[in-house]
Amino acid sequence: GHAILACQRQGAHLVDNNDTVTLEPLGNMKPIKDLVVDFTPFWDKINKIKPYLEPKEAPPEKERLQSQEDFKLIDDSSTCIMCGACYSDCNVLEVDDNFLGPAALAKAQRFISDSRDSQTLERVKEISEPGGIWDCTHCGECVERCPKPARPFDRIKEVMTVALKEGVHNNNGARHALSFFNSVKRSGNLNENRIPVESMGFFNIPGLLSLLPIGLRMFLKGKVPPVIHHSIEEVDDVKRIFKELDK
Ligand code: SF4
Ligand code: SF4
Repeated sequence: GHAILACQRQGAHLVDNNDTVTLEPLGNMKPIKDLVVDFTPFWDKINKIKPYLEPKEAPPEKERLQSQEDFKLIDDSSTCIMCGACYSDCNVLEVDDNFLGPAALAKAQRFISDSRDSQTLERVKEISEPGGIWDCTHCGECVERCPKPARPFDRIKEVMTVALKEGVHNNNGARHALSFFNSVKRSGNLNENRIPVESMGFFNIPGLLSLLPIGLRMFLKGKVPPVIHHSIEEVDDVKRIFKELDK
């Protein structure tokens, strides 16, 4: 089953072949009684991303104005109703309580992209740490579940783009994204020997050593990619596409 809003779905659509409707508490949160779950971790994570404006200027006499164009950047994330449906169905939260989760990360985008906020870089650095944006597996389940235009994974992708543009690269997730990008740009496909090393960081000795067991297992199973990486035949077409994108 999936998390849905009771006020949005008719019971008739939920009846199974045995004429039964099965109701269960939200996932990834501890049930307290019947369908009631403990939302504490959800709210703790929302609070962790500092869900309030830290403005650049002193308070004006009236409200802080924003252009319509600037507002469009935060319009979707502002629609979140904190229902917890995305949190309930997030695959990463099933295995990692430390993950901030889709709702908190979508809320972070709400402030990172707010033209009136002064803490963009600090916010992006904080959610680039373990448990933040780069721990998302891109499954898109939160987008399927979200009843509003907030669509958390879309917001997470926006924050990833800001992180890369702001030069917040000193973490495995950003290094992995850049390595992936550069590999396709260079050869049209993925250099599977180079990507794990670049993602870990050339000078991250403990991290590189941690790759050895999996490397050994791959070797024993004959799964190690060829040492010399070859470009695809149409690599010039790929390079042309990247050149166009760079313009
Ligand atoms: S896309 Fe990311 S945040 Fe959304 S459900 Fe999947 S893992 Fe969780
Ligand atoms: S992002 Fe969507 S699914 Fe998640 S809490 Fe907000 S409204 Fe609910």
